[in-house]
Amino acid sequence: MPARFELLLAGSVEPGVTSSVSLVRDGEAVVVIDPGMVHSRADLRERLAAHGLTPEQVTDVVVTHLHLDHTMNVGSFTNATVHDFMASYKDDVWTNHDLDRFRVSPNVYAIATPGHTREDISVVVVTEGGMVVCSHAWWSKRGPRLDRYAFDQEVLEDSRARVLAIGPSLIVPGHGEPFAPSELELA
Ligand SMILES: [Zn+2]
Ligand SMILES: [Zn+2]
Repeated sequence: MPARFELLLAGSVEPGVTSSVSLVRDGEAVVVIDPGMVHSRADLRERLAAHGLTPEQVTDVVVTHLHLDHTMNVGSFTNATVHDFMASYKDDVWTNHDLDRFRVSPNVYAIATPGHTREDISVVVVTEGGMVVCSHAWWSKRGPRLDRYAFDQEVLEDSRARVLAIGPSLIVPGHGEPFAPSELELA
């Protein structure tokens, strides 16, 4: 059974800064990706409730990188194992995992896509409609092409190419609506 992907929130950078927040249901796993800055915690709870879920039912939280605008609300999911680029964290248990292609659930895994930060990962979700990739390699489908936070723009370009090579049907950027690769219009 492939995973079911739902967008909880399309992020933005103005007027407010919000993270794109995603929900994946994959067998027993309920995965939230990038529960960072949102309008309010109540709003995040309501968006989850619209899918029949409470924060306590979330089993896994994945953050694409360690900027606070993508990590702010990881503590809202009290039963979840939290995953970043290097490890998985549950209560007081720290478990290191592979830097690349670590698996969160049967149809959800992460690949290393450094560039925006050294610690960036992109989360690949295998759905019936193809691969959905949550990635801060793009802020939105319109760019910016040059990421002013990138430690190395060339490394970022390589990571963008790596994501596109997967052939995703949909990319969920850090701060915008999901888009198909053909819709990219970086400026
Ligand atoms: Zn960031
Ligand atoms: Zn961001």
